[in-house]
Amino acid sequence: MAEVHLKNLTKRWGDFIGVDDQSLHIADQEFLVLLGPSGCGKTTTMRMIAGLEDPTGGEIWIGDRMVNDDLPKNRDVAMVFQNYGLYPHMTIFDNIAYPLRVRGVAKAEIGPRVEKAAAQVELTEFLHRKPKALSGGQRQRVALARAIVRTPKVFLMDEPLSNLDAKLRVTMRAELKHLSRALKITTVYVTHDQIEAMTLADRVAVMRHGVIQQLGTPDEIYNDPANLFVAGFIGSPAMNLINGSVQDGMFVTTGGTRLVKVKAADRARAILGVRADDLTVHEAGQGDIDVTIYAFENTGESTLLTVQWGKQRVIARGDRHLRKDQDDVVGIRLNSDHLYLFDPETEQRID
Ligand code: ATP
Repeated sequence: MAEVHLKNLTKRWGDFIGVDDQSLHIADQEFLVLLGPSGCGKTTTMRMIAGLEDPTGGEIWIGDRMVNDDLPKNRDVAMVFQNYGLYPHMTIFDNIAYPLRVRGVAKAEIGPRVEKAAAQVELTEFLHRKPKALSGGQRQRVALARAIVRTPKVFLMDEPLSNLDAKLRVTMRAELKHLSRALKITTVYVTHDQIEAMTLADRVAVMRHGVIQQLGTPDEIYNDPANLFVAGFIGSPAMNLINGSVQDGMFVTTGGTRLVKVKAADRARAILGVRADDLTVHEAGQGDIDVTIYAFENTGESTLLTVQWGKQRVIARGDRHLRKDQDDVVGIRLNSDHLYLFDPETEQRID
């Protein structure tokens, strides 16, 4: 068990900065997710913790040891990769036993420990098979069993669910969550999937261009986004971002509609953020504003209305029983308790 401490961690290749002077403290037993779009530096951060990539600057601490100069095998971390990294010529038993054998664990101890790990991920009946005779989800469970067969200080997981089909990913996500709560081992988990981040994490670090944009609990990054990037990245559908200004305590769209009261001081340019769930759909004339439907989508559990709002389009979520069509006019009401204001220049939240 251990905490992980990154101090001013930097990775450069020539002029290109992959990870830019990042500091992060991951508590003992915490499940920390590094979340961000492709190329934001999350994998590089994790590979530096693992020892697979040398930092250009900064320090990596695992527990009370600075591990920058330690070989990967001496850092006591267990990795789970997206492509599983199983040995095809070995049985499942031997794949799971591998980390114990390379560490010279006594033979008599290996069997029971492999069986225990296999049982934890429900693989007991497959131990004699080779990886190619397993499904993707089963192979992913082998990779997990191989990580949990010993008790490392830290788990490092790089998009471990991304090769699974959508349905299996949801099942494995719940299994992973259950397992991680049971094992209580410090975990750093890399993903670009915000649902995975929201559901698995104790805290999420949202990254862009090698910089952590916000570090917080799933609740905090969803309900209290620090800037435009986090606001637009978290949530599905993405938060609506409406251009306008603040005049006399009202947000006024670029089209001139005086939309809603806000607390911020008057300013010539502002962006209003509002989630689809905070725009309720009513009959025409009964909302704050009447809008024309550009596209109507029924997802089964709800309906999504893309509506033309002056020059902009925004998405509102309607009741699952709602039936409308494009070009219909509906009334939209804003839930003024859940509005966000951003400065378009700095992209920071102002209210
Ligand atoms: P993805 O989700 O696509 O894996 P990521 O957030 O994990 O993205 P990284 O793999 O950490 O991103 O890469 C961060 C940036 O560093 C990317 O722009 C990438 O092209 C660059 N990069 C990674 N490895 C190297 C390298 N060996 N040489 C030069 N640039 C690299």
